[in-house]
Amino acid sequence: MLSNALIIDDDPDVRLLGKTLLSQHGYEVLTAGSLGELVRQPALLNAELILLDFGLGEFTGLDILDYLYDLRIKASILFISSCSQETAALAITAGKTMGFHMLGFLAKDKLFTDLASFLELLKKAPKAPTSDELARAIQDNQLFLAYQPQIDLQNNHVIGAEALVRWQDPQRGVLYPDSFIPLAEQSDQMVSLTWYVIELALQQQAQWQAQGWHLNISINIPAAFIQAEGVLEAFDQLTQRHHAVLSKITLELTETAGVECLGYANYVLKALRQRGCQLALDDFGTGHSSLTQLYRLPFSELKIDRSFVSLIDQDKEALVITASIIDLGKRLGLTVVAEGIETAAQHALLAEAGCPVGQGYFLSRPLTAAAFNAWMCERSLPDVMTQEESMFARCNACCVEVCSATKRSR
Ligand code: C2E
Ligand code: MG
Ligand code: MG
Repeated sequence: MLSNALIIDDDPDVRLLGKTLLSQHGYEVLTAGSLGELVRQPALLNAELILLDFGLGEFTGLDILDYLYDLRIKASILFISSCSQETAALAITAGKTMGFHMLGFLAKDKLFTDLASFLELLKKAPKAPTSDELARAIQDNQLFLAYQPQIDLQNNHVIGAEALVRWQDPQRGVLYPDSFIPLAEQSDQMVSLTWYVIELALQQQAQWQAQGWHLNISINIPAAFIQAEGVLEAFDQLTQRHHAVLSKITLELTETAGVECLGYANYVLKALRQRGCQLALDDFGTGHSSLTQLYRLPFSELKIDRSFVSLIDQDKEALVITASIIDLGKRLGLTVVAEGIETAAQHALLAEAGCPVGQGYFLSRPLTAAAFNAWMCERSLPDVMTQEESMFARCNACCVEVCSATKRSR
């Protein structure tokens, strides 16, 4: 079977040469000359190998990487450019940080001679993870959490963050939930993974509390977790051990439809609410989350799915639906959070529609714990604390370190 490759370069000669060379190595090759072409023809991105130029008219290779990242493209990436080694090294590092399998840098003038060695490298590229590897990763502490800020859209204050699991695999780099959550589901590892995530989130909460940051932390939990035996007792033990502030924990659920016994789910969820935790219905408006669940289970928060939010600045109907969901949530006494805000226009429309809370790349991407600290410092720590608390946080060794590192890098 032929492997698919894509060459993204605005120079037609390079596209032609690259296509000829890759075809000789058994690749079926498609080409694109601009970001616009990729947007108009998403099928182009169905490739295992992408050769990417660094300068593409008004866009750079980093803009393209951002685009591929948003679409969760899994291809191996090989930079082709006439830029310096230093620029290429920076671009490769940026790609690795986004979790891409970066093959390296191919200078345009050496396209002929160097391509074969990169293709050999590609043959040795890591394969998809297995369930045994995931089990080992949980044991070996390779999972970590990224934190995506949630912002009060009316006053711009940071109110908390959603914890999103990542896997730092020694061979493959950073893996995202869509590449291992289905694996965890198939191999009955969702419950152990969730306990691990909750423990990491509680550790982070304790650290924020110590810094004087009384932030909320949102944790995604699957239906299997609610049904697990002894879940309430184990939850109590864990939260007590970490001195958790339960009123600052939100548990996010999506596929409650998968809960076979709604009565039992209701019992467990009510018990968690009685302990002070908040409960969010995630991805509201998609097939996963319906009005029935909103009505029958004790939710305190509704998260509007990004499939609506991403259209509100282009499509009047999406805006009407989103505004109606905001209204519905408020009438039911729920906190409403808009997910996936990507543009200033979406942000402004949501604030105008009275949406209380927002989350999305426009406000901030998910950040590692250290980057979240730095991001908070950048905002001068005014939002979530009193002046006295802010002084304390500034003196906190970790935070000062991150703040000065951030300032140095400016
Ligand atoms: P979710 O809970 O709805 O989380 C939001 C997802 O949207 C995250 O993807 C986040 O990175 C992404 N996102 C946020 N803002 C934007 C934006 O402006 N534009 C776009 N295009 N995307 C945005 P991520 O981290 O890949 O997580 C995907 C899903 O995996 C999550 O969706 C959640 O359902 C699941 N997941 C993540 N972490 C965990 C976990 O610890 N446990 C469980 N059970 N599921 C998790
Ligand atoms: Mg979520
Ligand atoms: Mg969601």
